[in-house]
Amino acid sequence: MRVVRAIQVTRPGGPEVLELVELERPVATPGHVVVRVEAAGVNYIDTYQRSGVYPMDLPFVPGKEGAGQIVEVGEGVEDFVEGEGVAWAFTQGSYAEYIRVPVTDLYRVPEDVELDMAAATLLQGLTAHYLVTSSHPVMPGETVLVHAAAGGVGLLLTQLAVARGATVIGTVGSEQKERIAMQAGVSHVLRYDLMDDVAHDLPAAVRAIAPEGVEAVYDGVGRTTFDASLASLKRRGAMVLFGAASGPVEPVDPQRLNSAGSVVLSRPTLADFTADAEEREWRASDIFHGILLGDLSVRIDHGYSLDEAAEAHRALESRRTSGKLLLHP
Ligand code: NDP
Repeated sequence: MRVVRAIQVTRPGGPEVLELVELERPVATPGHVVVRVEAAGVNYIDTYQRSGVYPMDLPFVPGKEGAGQIVEVGEGVEDFVEGEGVAWAFTQGSYAEYIRVPVTDLYRVPEDVELDMAAATLLQGLTAHYLVTSSHPVMPGETVLVHAAAGGVGLLLTQLAVARGATVIGTVGSEQKERIAMQAGVSHVLRYDLMDDVAHDLPAAVRAIAPEGVEAVYDGVGRTTFDASLASLKRRGAMVLFGAASGPVEPVDPQRLNSAGSVVLSRPTLADFTADAEEREWRASDIFHGILLGDLSVRIDHGYSLDEAAEAHRALESRRTSGKLLLHP
C-alpha cells in the first residue's frame, strides 16, 4: 500500500485535534484526478469543521482548498492532463500530500501564476468576487462597509469593491492591520477593538463618514458586529452576512429589517455561486487575470509545514493574521 502524510481529525475540538497521520494514497476514479498538493489554503471554514460548529463525519481530513500538479487522470476526464497545474476550492481533504479532486472543482492555473499564489487566492478570491458582483453588486459612487478588512477575504473584497468604484470603510482589530487595510484601498479605517460599545459606536463612526449610512455591509465577523452592521445601513441597503469569525449570529426577527430601513439580509455561501461551470470560469478568470495584470494583490501572511497545521489554526483564530495562511505538505 502506498501511503501519504495527511492531517486527520478523529474528534471535534481545539487545534490539538489536528493530527499528522499516514493514510492510503488516493487513486483516480471516473471524473476525478489525483493531485500532488503543493500548497493547501487554510480557511476559517476549516476551524468551524475542526471544532464541530459545522458537524462532520469522523474521521476526516480538513481543508477544502489547494493547488498542485495532476499526477493521475481518471476515466472520462478529457479537459485535464497529467503534469498540469490546477487549483480547487471545495474538495474536502486538502491538508495532505495527495488528494483526489472531481473535475467539477478543478481550475486550470495559468502558467504565469505560481501554484502557491493560486492556493492562496482561489477560495477567498472567488468569495470576494461573488460578494461584490452578485450578493450586492457594487456600483460606482457607493460607500460600503467591509468588516475584518485586513483579513484574507477582507483584503481581496476591499480591492474588488474599490475597483468597481466604491469608497470602502473598513474595520480592523489592530494598528498594524490599519496600515495593511489602507494599502488595499480602504479610505476610512475604524478600530472596532477600541470601541466600548461596538453596537452603538461603530454605526455612529460610519455615519460620521456617510451620514445616510452605507449601501452595503459585508460582514464575515458575525456575532460581535451584526447589530452594528444593521444600524450602519442606508435605507434599502444590503446586509450581506457571509461568515461568523466571532461566532454565529443569534436568530433575527424579520421585523428588524423593516425598522433598519427596509434593508435586505442575505447569508450567502460560495458553493451557490460556483455551481455552474460558466460562472466558475468567469469568476476564476477574473481573479487570475487580476493577479497577472497586477490589479489584485494577494498577501500571504505565513506558510506552515503540514505538521504545523495546529499552529496555523491557532494563528487564524487568535486574530494575529492578515491575509492568507498556507500549508506546504
Ligand atoms: P480572516 O483572515 O478574515 O480572519 C478572521 C478575522 O476576523 C480576524 O483576523 C479578525 O480580524 C476578525 N475577527 C473579529 N472578531 C473575531 C473573533 N472574535 N475571533 C476571530 N476573528 C475575529 O479569515 P478568512 O478570510 O478566512 O474568513 C473571513 C470570514 O469569511 C469568515 O467568517 C469565513 O467563514 C467567511 N467566509 C465565508 C465564505 C462564504 O462563502 N460564505 C467563504 C469564505 C470565507 P480583526 O483582528 O481585524 O478583527
